[in-house]
Amino acid sequence: MNATPAEGTQERAGGCLCGKIRFTVKGAAICPHLCSCGHCQKLGGAPVMWWAGFCEVSWTGEAGEPTWYTTFEGEARRAFCPHCGSRIAAIDSDIPDVGINVTALDDTSGEDLVPVNQSFPTNAVSWLPPIPDTRPSTVS
Ligand SMILES: [Zn+2]
Ligand SMILES: [Zn+2]
Repeated sequence: MNATPAEGTQERAGGCLCGKIRFTVKGAAICPHLCSCGHCQKLGGAPVMWWAGFCEVSWTGEAGEPTWYTTFEGEARRAFCPHCGSRIAAIDSDIPDVGINVTALDDTSGEDLVPVNQSFPTNAVSWLPPIPDTRPSTVS
């Protein structure tokens, strides 16, 4: 509903804290969401991580691709900068797009980056209310 053909040409840049990992993503963000699963909390060092999917990701920095850590063999892996430790991306085998840690983008203000729901909301800390669920289940 929010995606328009014009947004499909959009290009955004991002990178890690030290700048050795840089990337560009193309197109509108797919299913931006927060996640409070156990892996996200351990990996992210925070009660929630902020994810958005992109169909096309190019690694443009001097260090090339980030380091991939397999969280579920054959199913999921997460990427981080081996120099500064910044969390960058995730690949899940059942999802075609690459998950990007939105906070790794240089500009996080895009309307299409606003989280539509929160995965594992009851797993988050008690003092942080879950975000409103604006797109509960199916993406139309
Ligand atoms: Zn880095
Ligand atoms: Zn998670």
